[in-house]
Amino acid sequence: MHSGRAPTLFLSDLHLSPASPAAVAAFEAFARGPARNAAAVYVLGDLFDVWVGDDQLRSRFYRRIGQQLRAIHDAGAALYVARGNRDFLIGEGFAGATGATLLDERTVLDVGGAPTLLMHGDELCTDDVAYQQFRARTRTPQWRAWILSKPYWQRRAIGLYLRLRSRRATAHKDELIMDVSADAVTAAFRQHGVRRLIHGHTHRPARHQLTVDGVPRERFVLAAWHDDGHYLEVDDAGARVHRIAGGAS
Ligand code: MN
Repeated sequence: MHSGRAPTLFLSDLHLSPASPAAVAAFEAFARGPARNAAAVYVLGDLFDVWVGDDQLRSRFYRRIGQQLRAIHDAGAALYVARGNRDFLIGEGFAGATGATLLDERTVLDVGGAPTLLMHGDELCTDDVAYQQFRARTRTPQWRAWILSKPYWQRRAIGLYLRLRSRRATAHKDELIMDVSADAVTAAFRQHGVRRLIHGHTHRPARHQLTVDGVPRERFVLAAWHDDGHYLEVDDAGARVHRIAGGAS
């Protein structure tokens, strides 16, 4: 049981994979520590570096991550997971195994007394037209059914191919094109009538203050996990960023 003062934690862009032991160590420390004392934990996308279907949980590495998520849930923290651009194939099998509730693309909820909009953030990068076209094509139920009908090894290969292609494309893209568009941010605040927006994806951690329609708003951008982990803690007293040392465990 938690008191009303237990914080809500937000994190994103962990990009967990066997190739990122420091981020994995930071995640284990997070799962054992702060996550268990939280009222709720929101993972806002790109928990995994790649997700080709929930049968990925059969591999030992991902099964272990799944068990750690399950332990957060079992300790009493409500666990929510949004899909990112790397792991948008997360599905109900994953949710059932971990106890997580999957979030829609956009979620509005009251956090520490402020109506807050949550999302991964890739949908705000509307200047990146090629990416948005790819995104639209791959988020249909038809594409999802098509890809998930393929054998696991084939999905792994397609996932690797798409990663390489994306890396090559982003290497040649203007930095500004890959950031959020100011218009998309304004539109999101307006559409949902919120004071606060929390997202990840751009790997440009910040707390932006802005005014939309004469109303002060704030936009939190969550940090990506590399050598260290990062999460945002929000309660009635405000919002604070925390770092978790990854290091060797
Ligand atoms: Mn992302």
